[in-house]
Amino acid sequence: MKNILINDGLAEIGKTQLTKFGFTIFDEKVDPDKLVEFINKKNISAILVRSATEVRKNIIDNCPSLKLIGRGGVGLDNIDVSYAKEKGINVINTPSASSKSVAELVFAHLFSISRFTFHSNRTMPLEGDYNFKKLKKNYSNGIELGGKTLGIIGFGRIGQEVAKIAIGIGMKVLYYDLHNEIEDINIEFYNKETYKVNVFKSNFSNILECSDFITLHVPKQDKAIINKKELEQMKKGAIIINTSRGGIINESDLIKSLNNRTIGYAGLDVYEDEPKPRMEIIMNEYISLSPHIGASTQEAQNRIGIELAKQINQILNG
Ligand code: NAD
Repeated sequence: MKNILINDGLAEIGKTQLTKFGFTIFDEKVDPDKLVEFINKKNISAILVRSATEVRKNIIDNCPSLKLIGRGGVGLDNIDVSYAKEKGINVINTPSASSKSVAELVFAHLFSISRFTFHSNRTMPLEGDYNFKKLKKNYSNGIELGGKTLGIIGFGRIGQEVAKIAIGIGMKVLYYDLHNEIEDINIEFYNKETYKVNVFKSNFSNILECSDFITLHVPKQDKAIINKKELEQMKKGAIIINTSRGGIINESDLIKSLNNRTIGYAGLDVYEDEPKPRMEIIMNEYISLSPHIGASTQEAQNRIGIELAKQINQILNG
């Protein structure tokens, strides 16, 4: 009997599958300083985490029963991956499971900004009953997304899912990617029919200058790729969305550019300081906000659970 610790939660369907494959699961949040003791006491073969639990050298060195570390989601920066692999421990993740969910969140922000609903949801409860006409006027200058240009920076799994939605609603898509050269993407419809559409690779400066909306889908970077210079290159009033990683946009420069109206609005799911974003960010009236929930849909969590269970079964049960 192999034991699995689920330290940051897992969708029910994932737990059911693991049990069906014959694993015993411990679904509990063990404190970081008690993890080594718990893993050894319960003879844990696999630990499953999301972003909250770090699996570092001390755990890898001191838990001989550990054969697998599983991460539900994309990034692996909370795990010492190379060290674990050197020690013969499998490290797995589910990189594609949440791409569609993140892409849809981009549009939640874009639609919300383009019709000011992110803002009217703040003011209607306070003033809606006595200031209705004033609010109606304030929010009467919205825009449509159809016909506008969306610049996608980072054209990997999520960037491509974003492009599919954008094309579906009539936007022109330009993308920039350091490595990927993609000429067309397949849009899938509800009835499983697909339609191939051309996409156009552009350069970074051109994306900044020509896009009405820009959305970022690059991995964690050593330093911000959107700073004062890039914000000033963007179209006046442009809208930028970051659902990738905190720190990809320089937040101080973003606040200045929003407040002096160089750019129009921002939509943020990720922050330089998580889990305590800066006040100037969360109180800014030009920013649509969400608390790092890109991958947090029922569908993505179910896909993550199913994929992890399948991979664990293949690796640990042969
Ligand atoms: P991916 O690896 O499939 O795609 C990333 C792409 O960015 C690659 O094609 C790469 O060539 C390109 N790239 C790297 N550096 C670049 C640069 N400086 N300029 C231009 N292109 C560059 O990754 P993905 O699955 O699409 O994920 C993208 C981002 O989304 C990651 O940062 C990930 O952490 C984040 N993410 C966030 C959430 C959330 O909850 N908000 C959920 C899942 C993923």
